[in-house]
Amino acid sequence: MSAGPDEHQPAQGPAGAPSAVPASGDRRRYPAPAHLRFFHGPMDCGKSTLALQVDHNQSRQDRHGLLVTQGDRSAAPQISSRVGLRRPAIEIQPDTDLRLLVRGHWAEGHRVDYVIVDEAQFLSQEQVDQLAELVDESHVDVYAFGLTTDFRARLFPGTQRLLEIADDVQRIQVEVLCWCGLPAGLNARVVDGVMVRSGETVVVADTGPPGLPGQSAGAGTGHSPAVRYQVLCRRHYVRGDLGPTAAGPGQLTLP
Ligand SMILES: [Zn+2]
Repeated sequence: MSAGPDEHQPAQGPAGAPSAVPASGDRRRYPAPAHLRFFHGPMDCGKSTLALQVDHNQSRQDRHGLLVTQGDRSAAPQISSRVGLRRPAIEIQPDTDLRLLVRGHWAEGHRVDYVIVDEAQFLSQEQVDQLAELVDESHVDVYAFGLTTDFRARLFPGTQRLLEIADDVQRIQVEVLCWCGLPAGLNARVVDGVMVRSGETVVVADTGPPGLPGQSAGAGTGHSPAVRYQVLCRRHYVRGDLGPTAAGPGQLTLP
């Protein structure tokens, strides 16, 4: 008639165990290690979709997040993905102090357990360092999502700093294909149908808003050459070969 020891101790659940993992809302009282995580890839790799998925998963655990972005393609303060998901976000500027942003929310009585940063390639070095401070000193989890390289195949400043100091770096595994069918990892800038290799780092085409940080190419409003971006494999990036259907599917044209 011996029963298993477990059957006689139903009341000693995790609630009574002092070592139980604290509820997420107690993270500031029982600081769990927070992390600075960076996910990067080429255009169209689905990073905004992943950002929204992470937000969804976190909020399901009763955690509260702050979503920030910069120069979102929808020209409105939100994180939007090409598969149609979107959520309101806070539009930050190059001089926004992200520590003050989070503390401001705390001061208003709002919880901030995690921060999701889309378009993290546009962050300044200082802003990335501010995110790290939020992680280390305030135990806020940070998930940053950004492009790896610009149209010159060079790391964006924000991306470089995140690669340098993030706790965890992941290349997004959604495979983007060049027109030739090979995996594409490089973003080409196409101005009036021709691939260009020099110019301002940031010229957001698409339906992007004017006046983005660092944008001064054709700075006057009104004059807007047709700028678009196309992902290419390295070979075709080097050749500047946009393929037979340069305006075909997989481009950044949005409705
Ligand atoms: Zn190719």
